[in-house]
Amino acid sequence: MARAVGAKVTSTSRPASVVVSAVAFLTQLSQALGYRLALAAGVAVALALAEGTGLLLLVPLLSSIGLTVEEGPTSGLAATIGWAFSALGLQPSLPAVLVVFLAVSVLHGALYRAHLLLNPSLEQQFSTALRTRLYSAIVSARWSFLVGRRSTDLVHATTAEIDRISTAAYQLLTLLSGLAVSAVYVAIALRLSFWLTILVALAGVAMLWTLRGRTRRSADTGAEYTNTNRALFHMASESIAGLKVAKSVGAEARDIAIFNRLARQRADGYLALLRSFAQSKMRLDLSSAVLICVLLLVAVEGLALKGAGLLVLLFVFARIMPRAMALQESAQMFVTGLPAFSSVMQLIDQCEAEAEIVGAGGSSRIGVGHSVRFESVSYRYTADGPLVLDDVSVQIPAGRTTAIVGPSGAGKSTLADLLIGLLRPQSGTIAIDGHPLVEADGGAWRRSIGYVPQDSFLLHDTIRANLAWARPDASEAAMWDALAKASAAEFVRSRTEGLDTVVGDRGVRLSGGERQRLALARALLIEPTVLVLDEATSALDSLNERQILAAVDGLKGHVTVVVITHRLSSILDADVIYVLDQGRLVETGTWDALSARGGVFARLKAAQLGSAGQADQVEAEGAAAEATSGRATAIHGQ
Ligand code: ADP
Repeated sequence: MARAVGAKVTSTSRPASVVVSAVAFLTQLSQALGYRLALAAGVAVALALAEGTGLLLLVPLLSSIGLTVEEGPTSGLAATIGWAFSALGLQPSLPAVLVVFLAVSVLHGALYRAHLLLNPSLEQQFSTALRTRLYSAIVSARWSFLVGRRSTDLVHATTAEIDRISTAAYQLLTLLSGLAVSAVYVAIALRLSFWLTILVALAGVAMLWTLRGRTRRSADTGAEYTNTNRALFHMASESIAGLKVAKSVGAEARDIAIFNRLARQRADGYLALLRSFAQSKMRLDLSSAVLICVLLLVAVEGLALKGAGLLVLLFVFARIMPRAMALQESAQMFVTGLPAFSSVMQLIDQCEAEAEIVGAGGSSRIGVGHSVRFESVSYRYTADGPLVLDDVSVQIPAGRTTAIVGPSGAGKSTLADLLIGLLRPQSGTIAIDGHPLVEADGGAWRRSIGYVPQDSFLLHDTIRANLAWARPDASEAAMWDALAKASAAEFVRSRTEGLDTVVGDRGVRLSGGERQRLALARALLIEPTVLVLDEATSALDSLNERQILAAVDGLKGHVTVVVITHRLSSILDADVIYVLDQGRLVETGTWDALSARGGVFARLKAAQLGSAGQADQVEAEGAAAEATSGRATAIHGQ
């Protein structure tokens, strides 16, 4: 297990510029939400106007209790309000003002409710759209690209990183609606006292200017938090997936120590974020208190304001200050989420650039009438890496069993991945009945292939769900038929729940042999034209191996079978054997011909099976196992 990776916090992309990332974020948000963003903006503006109107009603209210509003800073507002009341056919008397105030409050309440519901719903729509786009980009990317990525990073991006982007989207929406409300307040303040407002605005801008470094640092802290989170997630996923091995080698204490360090780093990162918010808030609180004092001094001592004018002015600025602070907080929290956005967008771009061209969907398939041919196929995983397959030519005859054998690292699984169209050769061709397999055939070709690897992936679900995963429209009869062909029907029937037996996490409640037979049944359920067994029986005991091989033998003539293995006991029934060694095809022939040749195959055979006599013993054991499994099927069939 790559503990070193878990221990190290990998670096990630940090937005080159906060502004560029913020603009990109806003663009994505508006693209994903379309007219709904305009609707949210409309509600925000209406809400701002309702708040502003409520505030303006203070002027006739003060007038109705006897304060002079027609002079000084409130004179302009008083004239506007007087005009509005007469347009409504009302006198600005106390009851009329209170009725209008109540009406505005009802409107404000309704708008605020809409606003409270709308922003989270837009946030969720945006994050769901982005999450689905990311997921679909990942699953549609070429295998050659995905194989070089850490799977836990991909899982982390589709879950935790999108959650952070979701929070950032909410903050951005809050920021935008906050700006609308602030704009209305500032407009009222300007009408009250132009120069005082300009003075306060300049002081506010200066205050925010002093915080710009902190806001930029929020992006760095956010990027660090992304990295630590990712490392912790990777460590947890990997170590829990490999817990059995960790226990067997006694690595629990070491793993706990690494986990604890990462968890503390994550907690520190989180606290650093909070510290940064708290610092900004403290500075803003202090600065706004100073600002209010300066404002009062200038208004009272400098401009000699008093009465209603001073009261309304103070009231307006006392409402603007917390708004400005909330805006700064939202901005800072938004910026903190930007690194997650940048890294997710980068991943989406990379995956989309590597999208497979799988042609039309649907249910089309490709049959094999004569053979599948590899013609001088070469493959390397990275541009500067070694050739893993070097000029390999093999012919896989239809309806027969072809074996690809060789020592570990020979390139057998790479050949399997090329055969099933997961990888594309860098040179040479793969042809089906003489027609080169192009990338656009990938979907139809894969729908024609049954694939059983060494560690078959099973969903933590029922046997039925695991089978239906490959073919959702399969009838129960078709499932039982596939299970019977895979010598799996008996063990499924023996469970009280039958097809509804839950297999456990990755099939942990089944034995290794049962897991592989279920995987074989799933592969057979799609009625494949080609069945690829990639070390499918390598981890099984010989009885289970023979059961699977006997099942595969029953497919002879109907299905083209390719058995890829390093274990020669799996290919006793093969019609043709290809031997790979260090990426090159070194021998071809039948079991007997290759045994007699004294080459790589003969050496492998000697190493695995000892003398020829032991090989015969393996065959004899196989025959006995077949007889046993045949008997079991017969008993069951009665
Ligand atoms: P086999 O199945 O015969 O054991 P593989 O096809 O798995 O062999 O691997 C052949 C060679 O390719 C090995 O040297 C292995 O290290 C290398 N290899 C396999 N997968 C990758 C990968 N994703 N990236 C880089 N090298 C790889």
